[in-house]
Amino acid sequence: MVSDCIFCKIAGKEIPSDLVYEDEQVVAFRDRSPQAPVHVLVIPKKHVGSLLELKAEDKELAGHILTEVVPAIARKLEVAEDGFRLVVNTGENGNQTVKHLHFHLLGGRMMQWPPG
Ligand code: AMP
Repeated sequence: MVSDCIFCKIAGKEIPSDLVYEDEQVVAFRDRSPQAPVHVLVIPKKHVGSLLELKAEDKELAGHILTEVVPAIARKLEVAEDGFRLVVNTGENGNQTVKHLHFHLLGGRMMQWPPG
């Protein structure tokens, strides 16, 4: 828990969010500024600053998010069949604005490529 981290506060229920999934290690909630009909942020409850700060001991957590949590949310929110995009903005050029690892799950419309 990092005291000035907004996503730590969401994970700890100190500030409200529109939760769509929770387990012991992970929460997922709707982005407050959605860029698609489905726009959910999937975060580890423990503070990890970015993708680059994941450590060897986080392999199980990362695998859990990618192999279990994201597919479960995609199915629950009915974007699995049509497809969706998973985005991890990292660092300055990645335009990461919140310094707590989060996976954007975007769906419900056709995505564009290249991204902006
Ligand atoms: P990023 O730019 O990849 O760091 O994404 C941060 C995302 O967090 C943005 O899409 C914001 O809209 C979203 N966000 C920031 N604060 C909140 C909040 N309190 N509840 C929901 N989403 C948030």
